[in-house]
Amino acid sequence: MLANSDATTLGPMTEAAVLSSSDLVRLQGLLTATGPAMELRSPVTGQVVGELPTSTPADVEVGAQLAHRAQAEWAARSIGERARLLLDFHDHLLDRRDYFIDLLQSAGKARLSAAEEVLHVALTARYYGRTARRYLRSERGQGVLPVLTRIDRNYVPKGLVGVIGPWNYPLTMAISDGLAALVAGNAIMLKPDHHTPLVALAAVELLRATGLPADVWQVVHGRGTVVGRELIDVSDYVCFTGSTATGRMIAARCAERLIGCSLELGGKNPLLILDDADVDAAAAGAVRASFSNSGQLCVSTERIYVAEPLFETFTREFVARTEAIRLGNAPNFDHDMGSLIDHDQLARVSAHVEDARAKGARVLTGGRRREDLGELFYEPTILSGVTPEMECYAEETFGPVVSIYPVADDEEAVTRANDSDYGLNGSVWTSDHDRGRRVASKIKCGTVNINEGFAATFGSIDAPMGGMKNSGLGRRQGQDGIRRFVDVQSVATQIGIPIAPSHGLDGKAFTSVMTGVLRVMKKAGRA
Ligand code: NAD
Repeated sequence: MLANSDATTLGPMTEAAVLSSSDLVRLQGLLTATGPAMELRSPVTGQVVGELPTSTPADVEVGAQLAHRAQAEWAARSIGERARLLLDFHDHLLDRRDYFIDLLQSAGKARLSAAEEVLHVALTARYYGRTARRYLRSERGQGVLPVLTRIDRNYVPKGLVGVIGPWNYPLTMAISDGLAALVAGNAIMLKPDHHTPLVALAAVELLRATGLPADVWQVVHGRGTVVGRELIDVSDYVCFTGSTATGRMIAARCAERLIGCSLELGGKNPLLILDDADVDAAAAGAVRASFSNSGQLCVSTERIYVAEPLFETFTREFVARTEAIRLGNAPNFDHDMGSLIDHDQLARVSAHVEDARAKGARVLTGGRRREDLGELFYEPTILSGVTPEMECYAEETFGPVVSIYPVADDEEAVTRANDSDYGLNGSVWTSDHDRGRRVASKIKCGTVNINEGFAATFGSIDAPMGGMKNSGLGRRQGQDGIRRFVDVQSVATQIGIPIAPSHGLDGKAFTSVMTGVLRVMKKAGRA
């Protein structure tokens, strides 16, 4: 196990070393994978940077057997012991912050986006390390007969939790949910996205170095179409983050197996600028909300509704700030926005913009590739005049493209914000916080941020996060984020007399006595 002060015993810490063949061999050792090798490509250069073996359905089966065996021993440890592992992991991760940021940047990210992921995982580890006891220890409930019926609610781990992650936040979306499942006493089988397995493997390596028994957290690699079904079939619960289309398939399979799942899916997130907003702050916030991680962020803003009196000044300020964004992914903080992940993403982003342009939208800024910077860079793009027949009006672009619309008042802003099949994240800008909260309560999204785009809820691990409508089921973070990984077991202990006619009472007398008891309890204010 690593000591807190020992930041150097775990592998190399530089970007060059990250992509070395010895690094790949080391990380590959953590995979349960005997299938054909798959190349890993840099989205920035298009070059192959290495390869990893993929997992077969048989590998998933083998990994699940190991995990199930290890889970019993892991669950038998005290909550305190499991929580300590998360708190130690927090420190070790922060000690290796730059190593993880380098790895994340190899997925095309600007350094700040990469740093945010590392911080989010550390926040999650601390939060559940500190709150696990509160959420998991057995609780006393109210029995049918006061004093005579004792109720204990126990939180029993599901067993093996399958975690399926996306490529856009390949560290935190692969690891943070798993940390909550882990401290709840589960084993994990993780399938990171096939574009971005390395950083998840490095995090699992660090968890093991921190003291996690090796078999408790399994990792498989490959396409969801190859190992996804098998993974669901060996799991006792599935935690999925990705697109709505894949989420539906996963939910259907989980339903057939009668196991639970949480689905963190897509969004078409609205941002509302009320007529009393600070325009400078709102424009800066809208840039962060729309273009962080090149807009490849589930909670990223894709629709902006601006109160008419502010529309012109806001648009001018928003366009100016967007044009000041520095594109690139150098290993320093000099760039604000990195590249897209692959050619499919580039094709989707370009298609949405070209379709809107062809149907009469105005491109206020951006709207073109930047091949001079790398294979997959695309300029941050603002559209106006977007109408319902354009693809980007209602469909998720999942890229650096945002549409901007004037609205007459708060009511129209809310109506248009809610005019979507999605309901993931909303944002409201106003100088009156009470007004902001009133507007927020009418927005049909799982999270709403006032005077921030998404970071306030995303970074507050005590705030449950997830979608309404087609944006998903279940919540990550907070109490909901850990309780989804346990079954609630109620144990009732009946003391003295049974809940039935006894001690000489016949059925009729028992019913009369119970009727009296119920009336007294209602009067006494009992639930
Ligand atoms: P995706 O659904 O294509 O892939 C996500 C994961 O599912 C990958 O690991 C993939 O291999 C796996 N997968 C694919 N087909 C599968 C199958 N049949 N069975 C099992 N697993 C399968 O999504 P993506 O394109 O990688 O991610 C982008 C989407 O994710 C966007 O819609 C975005 O909004 C969403 N997202 C949501 C959140 C959230 O918290 N709500 C966070 C990040 C991304």
